[in-house]
Amino acid sequence: MTKPLVMVTGAGSGIGAATARAFAAAGHPVLLIARRRDRLEALGLSNAVCRAVDVRDRPAVAAAVAEAEALHGPIDCLLNNAGIAPLARIEDQDPEEWRDLLDINCLGVMNCMHVVMPGMKGRRHGTIINVSSIAGRKSYPYHDAYGASKAYVHALTEAARRSMSAYDVRVIVVTPGLTQTEIESTMLNKEAHEIWAARGADIGGGIAADHVARTMLFAYQMPQDVILQELVITPTRQEY
Ligand code: NDP
Repeated sequence: MTKPLVMVTGAGSGIGAATARAFAAAGHPVLLIARRRDRLEALGLSNAVCRAVDVRDRPAVAAAVAEAEALHGPIDCLLNNAGIAPLARIEDQDPEEWRDLLDINCLGVMNCMHVVMPGMKGRRHGTIINVSSIAGRKSYPYHDAYGASKAYVHALTEAARRSMSAYDVRVIVVTPGLTQTEIESTMLNKEAHEIWAARGADIGGGIAADHVARTMLFAYQMPQDVILQELVITPTRQEY
Protein backbone atom coordinates (compact mmCIF):
# COMPACT_ATOMS: atom_id res chain seq x y z
CA MET A 1 0.00 0.00 0.00
CA THR A 2 1.25 3.51 -0.79
CA LYS A 3 2.46 5.39 2.26
CA PRO A 4 1.43 8.99 2.91
CA LEU A 5 3.38 12.08 1.93
CA VAL A 6 5.78 13.59 4.46
CA MET A 7 7.11 17.17 4.32
CA VAL A 8 10.55 18.06 5.69
CA THR A 9 11.72 21.67 5.93
CA GLY A 10 15.43 22.44 6.07
CA ALA A 11 16.08 19.07 4.43
CA GLY A 12 19.34 20.05 2.75
CA SER A 13 21.65 19.20 5.65
CA GLY A 14 21.91 18.09 9.26
CA ILE A 15 18.80 16.88 11.06
CA GLY A 16 16.52 17.64 8.10
CA ALA A 17 18.63 15.63 5.64
CA ALA A 18 18.82 12.68 8.07
CA THR A 19 15.05 12.88 8.55
CA ALA A 20 14.38 12.96 4.81
CA ARG A 21 16.51 9.82 4.42
CA ALA A 22 14.84 8.03 7.33
CA PHE A 23 11.26 8.69 6.16
CA ALA A 24 12.11 7.92 2.53
CA ALA A 25 13.75 4.65 3.61
CA ALA A 26 10.52 3.83 5.49
CA GLY A 27 8.72 4.10 2.14
CA HIS A 28 7.22 7.58 2.29
CA PRO A 29 7.21 10.01 -0.62
CA VAL A 30 8.77 13.22 0.70
CA LEU A 31 8.40 16.92 -0.04
CA LEU A 32 11.79 18.49 0.71
CA ILE A 33 12.16 22.22 1.24
CA ALA A 34 15.19 24.48 1.74
CA ARG A 35 16.60 27.52 -0.02
CA ARG A 36 19.35 25.54 -1.82
CA ARG A 37 17.67 23.06 -4.13
CA ASP A 38 20.99 21.46 -5.16
CA ARG A 39 21.45 20.28 -1.56
CA LEU A 40 18.02 18.64 -1.62
CA GLU A 41 18.66 16.94 -4.94
CA ALA A 42 22.10 15.76 -3.76
CA LEU A 43 20.35 13.47 -1.26
CA GLY A 44 19.43 11.35 -4.29
CA LEU A 45 16.07 10.20 -2.90
CA SER A 46 13.96 8.65 -5.64
CA ASN A 47 10.49 9.51 -4.31
CA ALA A 48 11.22 13.12 -3.45
CA VAL A 49 9.77 16.42 -4.62
CA CYS A 50 12.56 18.97 -4.06
CA ARG A 51 11.64 22.65 -3.98
CA ALA A 52 13.79 25.72 -3.31
CA VAL A 53 11.48 27.47 -0.89
CA ASP A 54 12.21 29.89 1.94
CA VAL A 55 9.94 29.09 4.88
CA ARG A 56 9.45 32.85 5.33
CA ASP A 57 7.53 32.87 2.02
CA ARG A 58 4.11 31.45 2.90
CA PRO A 59 2.66 31.53 -0.66
CA ALA A 60 5.73 29.63 -1.90
CA VAL A 61 5.31 27.04 0.88
CA ALA A 62 1.63 26.66 -0.08
CA ALA A 63 2.50 26.28 -3.78
CA ALA A 64 5.09 23.57 -3.07
CA VAL A 65 2.60 21.71 -0.85
CA ALA A 66 -0.12 21.89 -3.52
CA GLU A 67 2.29 20.59 -6.16
CA ALA A 68 3.49 17.66 -4.03
CA GLU A 69 -0.05 16.80 -2.87
CA ALA A 70 -1.24 16.67 -6.49
CA LEU A 71 1.37 13.96 -7.08
CA HIS A 72 1.27 12.00 -3.84
CA GLY A 73 -1.94 12.84 -1.96
CA PRO A 74 -2.27 14.80 1.28
CA ILE A 75 0.62 15.53 3.63
CA ASP A 76 0.20 13.35 6.71
CA CYS A 77 3.34 14.48 8.52
CA LEU A 78 5.13 17.84 8.66
CA LEU A 79 8.67 17.87 10.05
CA ASN A 80 9.10 21.54 10.81
CA ASN A 81 12.86 21.64 11.10
CA ALA A 82 14.37 24.61 9.18
CA GLY A 83 16.23 26.95 11.52
CA ILE A 84 19.29 29.10 12.06
CA ALA A 85 21.39 29.79 15.17
CA PRO A 86 23.05 33.21 15.05
CA LEU A 87 24.22 33.01 18.67
CA ALA A 88 25.08 36.30 20.40
CA ARG A 89 24.46 38.41 23.45
CA ILE A 90 21.44 40.54 22.85
CA GLU A 91 23.24 43.83 23.51
CA ASP A 92 25.96 43.03 20.97
CA GLN A 93 23.75 41.67 18.20
CA ASP A 94 22.69 43.56 15.09
CA PRO A 95 18.89 43.87 15.48
CA GLU A 96 18.51 42.90 11.81
CA GLU A 97 19.77 39.44 12.82
CA TRP A 98 16.86 39.15 15.25
CA ARG A 99 14.49 39.71 12.35
CA ASP A 100 15.98 36.85 10.30
CA LEU A 101 16.10 34.61 13.35
CA LEU A 102 12.50 35.20 14.39
CA ASP A 103 11.19 35.16 10.81
CA ILE A 104 12.79 31.76 10.13
CA ASN A 105 12.67 30.02 13.53
CA CYS A 106 9.23 31.29 14.60
CA LEU A 107 7.17 32.64 11.68
CA GLY A 108 8.62 30.01 9.33
CA VAL A 109 7.39 27.27 11.65
CA MET A 110 3.94 28.87 11.81
CA ASN A 111 3.81 29.38 8.03
CA CYS A 112 4.25 25.66 7.42
CA MET A 113 1.76 24.71 10.15
CA HIS A 114 -0.77 27.15 8.74
CA VAL A 115 -0.54 25.57 5.29
CA VAL A 116 -0.98 21.92 6.36
CA MET A 117 -3.21 22.17 9.44
CA PRO A 118 -6.62 22.76 7.79
CA GLY A 119 -6.22 19.61 5.66
CA MET A 120 -5.14 17.52 8.66
CA LYS A 121 -8.03 18.86 10.72
CA GLY A 122 -10.52 18.08 7.93
CA ARG A 123 -9.17 14.53 7.53
CA ARG A 124 -8.93 14.12 11.31
CA HIS A 125 -5.48 12.67 10.74
CA GLY A 126 -1.96 14.03 10.72
CA THR A 127 1.21 14.68 12.67
CA ILE A 128 3.27 17.84 13.05
CA ILE A 129 6.71 17.57 14.60
CA ASN A 130 8.34 20.90 15.43
CA VAL A 131 12.10 20.87 15.98
CA SER A 132 12.93 23.09 18.93
CA SER A 133 16.10 22.92 21.06
CA ILE A 134 17.20 22.28 24.60
CA ALA A 135 18.00 26.02 24.47
CA GLY A 136 14.25 26.63 24.44
CA ARG A 137 14.00 24.94 27.84
CA LYS A 138 17.19 26.10 29.56
CA SER A 139 19.38 29.14 29.28
CA TYR A 140 22.87 28.94 27.76
CA PRO A 141 25.47 31.68 27.26
CA TYR A 142 25.11 33.60 23.97
CA HIS A 143 21.84 31.80 23.21
CA ASP A 144 19.77 34.92 24.03
CA ALA A 145 17.52 35.51 21.01
CA TYR A 146 18.03 31.96 19.70
CA GLY A 147 16.86 30.44 23.00
CA ALA A 148 13.87 32.79 22.99
CA SER A 149 12.96 31.70 19.45
CA LYS A 150 12.98 28.07 20.58
CA ALA A 151 10.94 28.81 23.73
CA TYR A 152 8.42 30.24 21.25
CA VAL A 153 8.40 26.93 19.35
CA HIS A 154 7.69 25.08 22.61
CA ALA A 155 4.80 27.39 23.53
CA LEU A 156 3.39 27.29 20.02
CA THR A 157 3.54 23.50 19.92
CA GLU A 158 1.76 23.17 23.24
CA ALA A 159 -1.02 25.52 22.15
CA ALA A 160 -1.46 23.75 18.81
CA ARG A 161 -1.40 20.34 20.51
CA ARG A 162 -4.33 21.41 22.67
CA SER A 163 -6.37 22.79 19.79
CA MET A 164 -5.66 19.88 17.42
CA SER A 165 -6.09 17.00 19.87
CA ALA A 166 -9.88 17.04 19.45
CA TYR A 167 -9.29 16.42 15.73
CA ASP A 168 -6.92 13.48 16.41
CA VAL A 169 -3.99 15.43 14.96
CA ARG A 170 -0.72 15.05 16.89
CA VAL A 171 1.51 18.07 17.46
CA ILE A 172 4.88 17.07 18.88
CA VAL A 173 7.99 19.00 19.88
CA VAL A 174 11.47 17.52 19.53
CA THR A 175 14.10 19.05 21.76
CA PRO A 176 17.62 18.15 20.61
CA GLY A 177 20.79 18.92 22.48
CA LEU A 178 24.11 19.22 20.70
CA THR A 179 23.90 17.48 17.31
CA GLN A 180 26.51 17.17 14.55
CA THR A 181 25.16 19.28 11.68
CA GLU A 182 26.07 22.35 9.65
CA ILE A 183 24.32 24.72 12.08
CA GLU A 184 27.59 26.36 13.12
CA SER A 185 27.80 27.91 9.65
CA THR A 186 25.05 30.27 10.89
CA MET A 187 27.06 31.29 14.00
CA LEU A 188 28.80 34.37 12.66
CA ASN A 189 29.73 35.87 16.05
CA LYS A 190 33.27 34.56 16.67
CA GLU A 191 33.15 34.75 20.46
CA ALA A 192 29.78 33.02 20.63
CA HIS A 193 31.00 30.31 18.28
CA GLU A 194 34.15 29.73 20.37
CA ILE A 195 32.14 29.33 23.58
CA TRP A 196 29.69 26.96 21.82
CA ALA A 197 32.53 24.89 20.32
CA ALA A 198 34.39 24.69 23.66
CA ARG A 199 31.27 23.43 25.42
CA GLY A 200 30.79 20.87 22.64
CA ALA A 201 34.36 19.65 23.09
CA ASP A 202 33.80 19.41 26.88
CA ILE A 203 30.93 16.97 26.42
CA GLY A 204 32.64 14.90 23.73
CA GLY A 205 30.81 16.38 20.74
CA GLY A 206 27.27 16.19 19.48
CA ILE A 207 25.16 13.16 18.63
CA ALA A 208 24.66 12.09 15.01
CA ALA A 209 21.67 13.70 13.30
CA ASP A 210 20.47 10.18 12.42
CA HIS A 211 19.50 9.56 16.04
CA VAL A 212 17.22 12.59 16.06
CA ALA A 213 15.72 11.48 12.74
CA ARG A 214 15.07 7.94 13.99
CA THR A 215 13.42 9.33 17.12
CA MET A 216 11.02 11.38 15.00
CA LEU A 217 10.24 8.41 12.77
CA PHE A 218 9.51 6.31 15.87
CA ALA A 219 7.11 8.97 17.20
CA TYR A 220 5.36 9.16 13.83
CA GLN A 221 5.03 5.38 13.57
CA MET A 222 3.22 5.07 16.91
CA PRO A 223 -0.53 4.55 16.45
CA GLN A 224 -2.42 7.77 15.74
CA ASP A 225 -4.12 7.65 19.15
CA VAL A 226 -0.72 7.74 20.90
CA ILE A 227 1.36 10.91 21.10
CA LEU A 228 4.90 11.38 22.38
CA GLN A 229 4.28 14.99 23.31
CA GLU A 230 7.90 16.04 23.79
CA LEU A 231 11.10 14.24 22.91
CA VAL A 232 14.29 15.47 24.56
CA ILE A 233 17.38 13.90 23.00
CA THR A 234 20.93 14.92 23.88
CA PRO A 235 24.41 13.44 24.18
CA THR A 236 24.60 11.39 27.39
CA ARG A 237 27.32 13.71 28.68
CA GLN A 238 25.17 16.81 28.13
CA GLU A 239 23.96 16.85 31.73
CA TYR A 240 22.70 20.44 31.32
P1 NDP B 1 21.74 22.75 9.49
O1 NDP B 1 22.32 24.11 9.30
O2 NDP B 1 22.59 21.57 9.16
O3 NDP B 1 20.37 22.63 8.68
C1 NDP B 1 19.44 23.69 8.62
C2 NDP B 1 18.60 23.53 7.37
O4 NDP B 1 17.62 24.56 7.35
C3 NDP B 1 19.39 23.67 6.08
O5 NDP B 1 18.92 22.67 5.18
C4 NDP B 1 19.02 25.05 5.55
O6 NDP B 1 19.12 25.02 4.13
C5 NDP B 1 17.58 25.16 6.05
N1 NDP B 1 17.11 26.53 6.18
C6 NDP B 1 17.67 27.55 6.88
N2 NDP B 1 16.94 28.67 6.71
C7 NDP B 1 15.90 28.34 5.90
C8 NDP B 1 14.83 29.07 5.35
N3 NDP B 1 14.69 30.37 5.58
N4 NDP B 1 13.92 28.42 4.57
C9 NDP B 1 14.07 27.10 4.30
N5 NDP B 1 15.08 26.36 4.79
C10 NDP B 1 15.99 26.98 5.57
O7 NDP B 1 21.30 22.70 11.02
P2 NDP B 1 20.56 21.62 11.95
O8 NDP B 1 20.27 20.39 11.22
O9 NDP B 1 21.33 21.57 13.19
O10 NDP B 1 19.20 22.42 12.26
C11 NDP B 1 17.91 21.87 12.14
C12 NDP B 1 17.09 22.31 13.32
O11 NDP B 1 17.61 21.73 14.51
C13 NDP B 1 17.09 23.82 13.56
O12 NDP B 1 15.77 24.25 13.84
C14 NDP B 1 17.99 23.98 14.78
O13 NDP B 1 17.68 25.13 15.51
C15 NDP B 1 17.67 22.70 15.53
N6 NDP B 1 18.64 22.30 16.54
C16 NDP B 1 19.95 21.99 16.19
C17 NDP B 1 20.85 21.61 17.18
C18 NDP B 1 22.27 21.27 16.86
O14 NDP B 1 23.09 21.14 17.80
N7 NDP B 1 22.65 21.10 15.60
C19 NDP B 1 20.45 21.52 18.58
C20 NDP B 1 19.08 21.86 18.83
C21 NDP B 1 18.23 22.22 17.85
P3 NDP B 1 19.24 26.34 3.22
O15 NDP B 1 20.31 27.18 3.84
O16 NDP B 1 19.58 25.80 1.88
O17 NDP B 1 17.89 26.99 3.25
